[in-house]
Amino acid sequence: WRPPAAIVRAAFLRFFEERHGHRRLPSAPVRPRGDPRLLFVNAFKPIFLGTVHPRSELAQHRRVVNSQKCVRAGGKHNDLEDVGRDTYHHTFFEMLGNWSFGDYFKEEACSMAWELLTEVYEIPRDRLYVTYFGGDPSLGLSADEECRDVWLRLGVPASHVLPFPLKDNFWEMGDTGPCGPCTEIHYDHVGGGRNAAALVNQGSPDVVEIWNLVFMQYSREVEGNLLPLPQHHVDTGMGLERLVTILQNKRSNYDTDLFTPILDAIHKGCRAPRYQGLVGDADVGRVNMAYRVVADHVRTLCVCITDGIYPGFSGAELVLRRILRRAVRFCSEVLQAPPGLLASLVPTVVEVLGDAYPELTRNANQVSNNETAFLSSLERGRHIIERTVQQMEPSTNFPAEVAWSLYGSLGFPLDLIDLMLEEKGISLDSAAFNELAGGAQAGQAGNTNTHLDVHSLAQLRSSNVPATDDSPKYAYTLGQHGHY
Ligand code: ATP
Ligand code: MG
Ligand code: MG
Ligand code: MG
Repeated sequence: WRPPAAIVRAAFLRFFEERHGHRRLPSAPVRPRGDPRLLFVNAFKPIFLGTVHPRSELAQHRRVVNSQKCVRAGGKHNDLEDVGRDTYHHTFFEMLGNWSFGDYFKEEACSMAWELLTEVYEIPRDRLYVTYFGGDPSLGLSADEECRDVWLRLGVPASHVLPFPLKDNFWEMGDTGPCGPCTEIHYDHVGGGRNAAALVNQGSPDVVEIWNLVFMQYSREVEGNLLPLPQHHVDTGMGLERLVTILQNKRSNYDTDLFTPILDAIHKGCRAPRYQGLVGDADVGRVNMAYRVVADHVRTLCVCITDGIYPGFSGAELVLRRILRRAVRFCSEVLQAPPGLLASLVPTVVEVLGDAYPELTRNANQVSNNETAFLSSLERGRHIIERTVQQMEPSTNFPAEVAWSLYGSLGFPLDLIDLMLEEKGISLDSAAFNELAGGAQAGQAGNTNTHLDVHSLAQLRSSNVPATDDSPKYAYTLGQHGHY
């Protein structure tokens, strides 16, 4: 039996609610409240620590469970580069989580997780590996033997219980504040009696992390030292897409019912061959990657827009604009779709996610956009790049002035320029570009991971780059909140 994602999600919530006395809460919006350091909610943690008002509903309960919408596409947590290239990192994903606020701790948290995975979901025990914090002498922290012993008592063989250092198994929200060791559960997709311990935490698609259980037991002070917290908390998160992949006996998140309806809808709307999963051949691979990117990005767009984040010029809005443009570009250039494909996918996304997140259904009409204008500027940009490349001396960098004008007059984000150049095997003269851009803000601009903020845009506007009269047109009108 291969349970649909809806059943897998519901089983998680019911397990903690009915069997273990948790209170179920709805997902928080993906726009963080009260934590300016975050662009998006990318875990349950900020809700837990940063924004809980003492009289809020969350604070009334000592055991809570939910399924949280998470976006990791900017700021400290940014998985954008992996999306489409691998099969298990998304810009938007659902995080199933249970919390204890000063209630149960390591013993119960691990045993509930183990019970759920092995008895409710019936995942074979020999496919699971668990990690624990191996200690850090420089911080005066010893290994979390308490956690290790809990796993051993639960019957996990010692060869599947593995210590890892601070960077893997110690969770800190920021430079100060609550923190503590964590324990993670990993799944071996290959099995067959082998020992996959060496592949844990190595970025192998064969052994994938599924669940992180954080034990909040210290507070990091300004001086850097750790003080024990008066109360202990548990804060866990499991990626629904990865769990469903396991339970539906697939190797890729994109082969589950969370994605196949979207991939089918993309196929119906474009001229490319059907999605074929991960394949070796470069050309087919490019089409397949485009399918994954578009399916991923359209989910993120729907979730963000229905939570009130619209593509725009700074912070989360700017990140979303980049996502929109990447998606449009993959649609038109690789999948050869006519304008409007993205918008046509919205009902399918709502169908897949709307039951779990009713705000998606409620606000779906806000996701109306117009790709035509951007497509025409894309077309012009591509011409300019082609022409420039033809005139370039071999093995030289792409001239900064041209990139600068693509950026200034056609509104191409730098990562898009980088991506288009990368496909031609050339790179941008970023030192010269930075010089052109001038100043500190622009100094960040050569970096593909950097988001240009309002200031650099304003600076750009007042610079000598002529803003052509169609420059506002590539933009998207998104309901009454359109920024353009
Ligand atoms: P990974 O090492 O695979 O990047 P992580 O350690 O960054 O994952 P955590 O911050 O521990 O992830 O988040 C808890 C869980 O959320 C992970 O165990 C995983 O199941 C899921 N998860 C994290 N990032 C993503 C993502 N980009 N897409 C889908 N699921 C994710
Ligand atoms: Mg990660
Ligand atoms: Mg990890
Ligand atoms: Mg992790």
